[in-house]
Amino acid sequence: MLRGVTTLPPVSEMEAAYLRRDPDYDGIFFMGVRTTGVFCRPTCPARSPLPKNVEYFPDPASAVSAGYRPCKRCRPMSLVNQPDWAAALISEVEADPNRRLRESDLRARGVDPATVRRHFLKHYGMTFQAYSRARRLAGAFTTIRNGSPVDDAVLESGYESPSGFREAFQRTFGVAPSASPGQDCVRVAWLPSPLGPLVAGATSEGLCLLEFTDRRMLEHQFETVRRLFRLPVVPGTNSHIEQAQDELARYFEGRLTEFTVPLLYPGSDFQRRVWTELLRIPYGETRAYHEIATELGDPAAVRAVGRTNGLNRIGIVIPCHRVVNKGGALGGYGGGLRRKQFLLDLERGHRPPTLGGLFDA
Ligand SMILES: [Zn+2]
Repeated sequence: MLRGVTTLPPVSEMEAAYLRRDPDYDGIFFMGVRTTGVFCRPTCPARSPLPKNVEYFPDPASAVSAGYRPCKRCRPMSLVNQPDWAAALISEVEADPNRRLRESDLRARGVDPATVRRHFLKHYGMTFQAYSRARRLAGAFTTIRNGSPVDDAVLESGYESPSGFREAFQRTFGVAPSASPGQDCVRVAWLPSPLGPLVAGATSEGLCLLEFTDRRMLEHQFETVRRLFRLPVVPGTNSHIEQAQDELARYFEGRLTEFTVPLLYPGSDFQRRVWTELLRIPYGETRAYHEIATELGDPAAVRAVGRTNGLNRIGIVIPCHRVVNKGGALGGYGGGLRRKQFLLDLERGHRPPTLGGLFDA
């Protein structure tokens, strides 16, 4: 979830604050340490990280969504007057992020799922399910973010052994984090954006994945990519990811209106027709779901168009954000309505709200 338009203090101020462990900044910002994948309060008693390895977040949800896990010493997820059951749930997830706690598990622990949901939304800006999902993916995110060779990633990820790391990666991507020399693979990289980090994936033939890291669909998309391409998934980059990164930077500056990075978007015949139709919506314009359906010669397929729009794996570049409800209301967006509004404002030449510093990974 994008956490509003909160502006963080200047980086120099936050840097000075954490280096002197200033309690006045507790709750004002949280700091993620790229090399360890851990996030802390500015007052953390552990050894202070080098400023070049730190990125800043306005709240725990943003840090968790970016793949950081809470520090065991300064416990940035704990609250004043936190109910015991909430602390217990967080400890349980932290002890084993890969164990999925379902609603029935919550009830078995004597807590009402609706109460859990409200509590997490209110205090962390994300549901317990979103928090759990982000924690499941955190190990893989840390590796992708660092983009380093597997052995280095193991050392820095906090996994005690290469096999522990391989298991975590494998749970997310279904494959071990390596490829034989010369074999094609899906490279996955971490791209910063003003709207929060993106995960990009590309084979040697083109870009096949571009998703916000906090998107509910992400785990599903990883599985789909793996199934569709039958290739190993490996952290790293290639020329298509570099091109996408360059084009996205210019897009967010309002200097690029058309992406030229090659795209791969296999799917059913209907899905491919919808996604191709999305690519034809010009920059700065929008279409309603029923207009897309009519364009495809099947005016009754509005719902199917909406569903397929939501299954788009290459966000921003295949502009599913340009599809709105009849009458112009925003409609849905997998990445959240704030992001959709931001992208549409950007393309209409309106100056989008400042989100600077929020996710300057
Ligand atoms: Zn800490």
